[in-house]
Amino acid sequence: MENPVLRRPIYMLFQGILKPKWKSLVMLTGILPKHQFILWMAIQRRLATVDILAKWRIQVPQSCVLCERDIEETHDHLFFECTYSQSLWKGMLGWLRYQRSVANWEDELKWLSANANNRNPRKTILGVVFAATVYHIWMERNDRRFQNQKREAKDRAKDITIQVHITGQ
Ligand SMILES: [Zn+2]
Repeated sequence: MENPVLRRPIYMLFQGILKPKWKSLVMLTGILPKHQFILWMAIQRRLATVDILAKWRIQVPQSCVLCERDIEETHDHLFFECTYSQSLWKGMLGWLRYQRSVANWEDELKWLSANANNRNPRKTILGVVFAATVYHIWMERNDRRFQNQKREAKDRAKDITIQVHITGQ
């Protein structure tokens, strides 16, 4: 049976709930469905970061588990104020030969929307890699919080490059 939660994003896209300007980014060819789902959640700011959990009155340790500094884990910290996230995304940009500094979430989305599209392979890969990066940051956060497992940003980066090669991007 299909998972109704996983069906929801696509359904909601057609309802026009996602801002149209981000729709082309989320719907890029080659983005894995699980990456697409997390990217969509992130764009909606619906990933259950500490600040969101607090609104639901769920108390968890507040500090970011990625940079391990005494900084509250918020959406904006994770994407991309955090040194871990920033080094992962900057590393991926470097791999794709983009020389630019990493900005905040909203500015990164704007830049991605302007630069990632299906017009040529390089522009498509950019979107695929961005979706994978957001997914890996979220998974690393979950692995550290709930599984007590840690991986370096460079190992996550390696996984992303392998995935891009395997999917023939
Ligand atoms: Zn951090």
